[in-house]
Amino acid sequence: MTAAVPGVRGTPSETSEFLALDETYSAHNYHPLPVVLAKASGAWVTDVEGNDYLDFLAGYSALNFGHRHPELTAAAMEQLERVTLTSRAFHHDQFGPFCRELAELTGTEMVLPMNSGAEAVESAIKVARKWAYRVKGVAEDRAEIVVAGSNFHGRTTTIVSFSTDPEARADYGPYTPGFVITEYGDAAEVESVITPNTAAVLVEPIQGEAGVVVPPRGYLRELRKLCDDNNVLLIADEIQSGLARTGELLASSHEDVRADLYTLGKALGGGILPVSAVVGSRAVLGVLHPGEHGSTFGGNPLACAVGRAVVNLLSTGHFQQRARELGARLHERLEGLVGHGVSEVRGRGLWAGVDIAAGGPEGRTAATELMRHGVLCKQTQDRTLRIAPPLVITSEELDSGLDAVERVLTASR
Ligand SMILES: *Cc1c(COP(=O)(O)O)cnc(C)c1O
Repeated sequence: MTAAVPGVRGTPSETSEFLALDETYSAHNYHPLPVVLAKASGAWVTDVEGNDYLDFLAGYSALNFGHRHPELTAAAMEQLERVTLTSRAFHHDQFGPFCRELAELTGTEMVLPMNSGAEAVESAIKVARKWAYRVKGVAEDRAEIVVAGSNFHGRTTTIVSFSTDPEARADYGPYTPGFVITEYGDAAEVESVITPNTAAVLVEPIQGEAGVVVPPRGYLRELRKLCDDNNVLLIADEIQSGLARTGELLASSHEDVRADLYTLGKALGGGILPVSAVVGSRAVLGVLHPGEHGSTFGGNPLACAVGRAVVNLLSTGHFQQRARELGARLHERLEGLVGHGVSEVRGRGLWAGVDIAAGGPEGRTAATELMRHGVLCKQTQDRTLRIAPPLVITSEELDSGLDAVERVLTASR
């Protein structure tokens, strides 16, 4: 499939020129597929040569509403004409409304807006520690936070301190103390490590980077009970799992679990700019006072205007329903591949981790092959494909992308 992209030359050699620039002038902290994108709309992206691809990654779920959703770009454009940044030194007219609307959407009382997901997680950690000292009465510098193995919460020094991924963690010490790692899915182990100094349990309701790992049924509910019984905060990192991806606004809802704090990010910025937030109760977020935490860009007018448009899109339940319906199709088709180049499929809603069977291609090889078939996705871990198309994808588009997945994964069999 080809389409002319206005303003790009469309020569095949152009791709190599861009790849060479990246290789020479950018730090090598990523290893992107060799495709150079120039344009996108909905579930489609176009490269500098004019080739179209179905986006099966959706910016790691930052693009839940697709590329350049008209309501989101309109909100951004309108705000660009008014005011984009004030700093929190002053109030602005998008801030309060954004906080109220996000709190109402998530059934919480207070919002702490930040920018990146990692910042939201860092902020939740700071709030939980402060709550432990000021409310629970933990002795100074003794607060502990229980986390799960194979977690992914971001890339800051504190967050990688409790990563179990050697690639993410090695050479970045000395590490921040105060974290206890337990096996994901094992509530009994969490119970065994809770002490009077435990401030919080921090988990992803579904582990995205680990390969879209859904915990055993009852895990989140047991964590909730342990937290209640021991005066410990439950922090759900919904940065990737939240905002409709799994068919619910929040993935924790699949077990009817309410967390004390949620971290949100990725799709909250509508794929336009980084917007993240910690949301929760007044009793917990209320521990912060002026000067004790902040961010120059957090809660800026442009971010709030886009965030409000995102909240508005989510408030109807339309995207949640799409994720449920398209997700049923996705999982039905992927389940059909088990035993045919696929060893296991996990996930919920329009989100799947597909383990490539032994004897099949490496994850990266499969992703490169899929690119040649006009579908962009990315491996996570070595042998898992993560499939997370934008929720605006049509069922025909989803099917055609899955045809490509089927061709690539069953080719070598
Ligand atoms: C992506 C992600 C983060 C980090 O978000 P950034 O915006 O990349 O800092 C944190 N937690 C989870 C669960 C994520 O998927």
